[in-house]
Amino acid sequence: MYAAFFRRHGGPEVMETGEAPEPVAATGTVVVSVRAAALNHLDLWVRRGLPGLTLELPHIGGSDVAGVIDEIGPGVEGWEVGDRVALNPSLWCGECEWCERGEHPLCLDFKILGEHVAGGTAERVRVAARNLYRIPDDLEFRVAAAAPLAYQTAWRALKTRGGLKDGESLLVTGASGGVSTAAIQIARLLGARVLAVTSGPENVSRVRELGADVVFDRLETDFAEGVKEHTAGRGVNLVLDSVGEATWAQCLRSLSRLGRLVTYGATTGPRGAVEIRHMFWKQISVSGSTMASRSEFEAVMGHVAAGDLTPVIHDVMPLAAIREAHEVLEAGRAFGKLVLEP
Ligand SMILES: [Zn+2]
Repeated sequence: MYAAFFRRHGGPEVMETGEAPEPVAATGTVVVSVRAAALNHLDLWVRRGLPGLTLELPHIGGSDVAGVIDEIGPGVEGWEVGDRVALNPSLWCGECEWCERGEHPLCLDFKILGEHVAGGTAERVRVAARNLYRIPDDLEFRVAAAAPLAYQTAWRALKTRGGLKDGESLLVTGASGGVSTAAIQIARLLGARVLAVTSGPENVSRVRELGADVVFDRLETDFAEGVKEHTAGRGVNLVLDSVGEATWAQCLRSLSRLGRLVTYGATTGPRGAVEIRHMFWKQISVSGSTMASRSEFEAVMGHVAAGDLTPVIHDVMPLAAIREAHEVLEAGRAFGKLVLEP
């Protein structure tokens, strides 16, 4: 089959397209004919090489996939060839104590489609049947493919880990990213007021169009001061951050009493100091989040299928343009998803 892959780690120049082995449907799995696959920053990190992650090369990336079932393995029930599906990129063992509790992203053998195993930047991909999500006929493949990873991450981080409720306020940093744009839409759906931080006037207006009530340009202002101004000196109930080191102190300063900070990444660096006295006096909580459980994934995809949440798509490109797509994402030139069609 035709696929996009890399044979060695490096920059966008290592991406190539060509022939790859056909996946075969094993017990409990199906092979899906890919109609659309979206890129994530994860694809760039995997391509560069992650410490502790040893890949079989060549490696096919792509965690976000939508398509049609092509082949059904033994023991799979309830699905037919031709069914339209989106794939859940979270892969769990189903046997450990965390899986038993339904906490799939904490699985002792947790993996991600396109990171640890061959992903969807190809004509066909194999997944476990429990990772299939049925999509309605009127949901375009490119839209369905743009949602799974970012929307499940934002959903768990805001709702389960952050406990965001109707009438509360949320601050989202790095607001032009995939999870952040999903978070802005989800927070609005939950009835929260959204404050956001991004950089540059173009991103400011785009984030405002997405539904953020107040948008700060981090190049122009100290956003923690801005948050105080726009919350009558109180701060926000919840901060969602993946910028890490560069924004950590300002994120903590932006919190109200009983405020919560949820982190799901650390793109600018892994270290952040906490003023402990400030933490107990204001009774602040800091928690982490990554990916989502099967039920969280299905809940958020239900909203995407119903049209309550619509992923922002920057561009749709042919799979042959994989190198260019990596370059655009790496240069930070994409606002929203880059979708590839084989
Ligand atoms: Zn497990």
